[in-house]
Amino acid sequence: TFKKLDMEYRSKDELYQMAATFNRMMDLMKANFEKQRQFISDASHELKTPLTIIESYAQLLKRRGKNEPEILEEAVEEIHSESRRMKEMTRQMLVLARGESLGSVELQEVDLTDLCGNAVKPLIQTFHREIRVHSSEEKVHTLADPRQIKQLLFILLDNAIKYSKKPVEVWVGYDHGLPSFSVTDWGAGIPREDIDLVFERFYRVDKARSRETGGTGLGLSIAREIVHAHNGKIDIDSEEGRGTTVTVSLPGNE
Ligand code: ADP
Repeated sequence: TFKKLDMEYRSKDELYQMAATFNRMMDLMKANFEKQRQFISDASHELKTPLTIIESYAQLLKRRGKNEPEILEEAVEEIHSESRRMKEMTRQMLVLARGESLGSVELQEVDLTDLCGNAVKPLIQTFHREIRVHSSEEKVHTLADPRQIKQLLFILLDNAIKYSKKPVEVWVGYDHGLPSFSVTDWGAGIPREDIDLVFERFYRVDKARSRETGGTGLGLSIAREIVHAHNGKIDIDSEEGRGTTVTVSLPGNE
């Protein structure tokens, strides 16, 4: 009887554990569902803005485009720039959607100094801006997915260049003993109250300014996902009107 009681006790305990696990799973599924629902609703909303602009310029073209060359030029220009923004936004949405469903990075041993140096070189041509790379002599060993790190650097440099006019600095080395790199610009900066929010999808500090610069509000949320997939950390240090430094730290691989 002793043994039987013990068994019963154990199976009840297991039952409780199973129920608790099941409840946790349900909570996670609900939270995920809620996140996806929010994403779809935000994405539709964000795509509606450029579409509305395109639609109204197309209407203007139809009414007055044939006879008024200035209208024709303005409308074509706006339609072109808004459709490019939409294209970039859908590309980034796909990156986010894929990242979430697969959640996989292909980690390999890399020297972060090499990787960052090589990633930045072609971008100097792309961005037409001076990008100064500072790195220590030593190799900075870590496990990383080179393609993803390149994508990450692209996002951070793209922002640094969009929101400043001066040369941009990239630093690679060990920060508090961890393989790290940072991107610094001497530009607009981010107001203190917005710093925690800029990682949220579609969040932009100044919607009007971002529209001019072609922003989508998705870059930093992709950056954060890449960093988290590497079990790393991403931090922003910024002062309005002075500039911004975004630092990424990855796990060590000594
Ligand atoms: P976006 O495509 O709008 O740049 P991000 O997600 O990359 O989207 O950034 C979100 C917002 O954070 C930007 O709209 C901008 O307001 C702010 N931001 C990001 N990086 C910088 C930076 N280097 N300097 C100033 N503001 C920045």
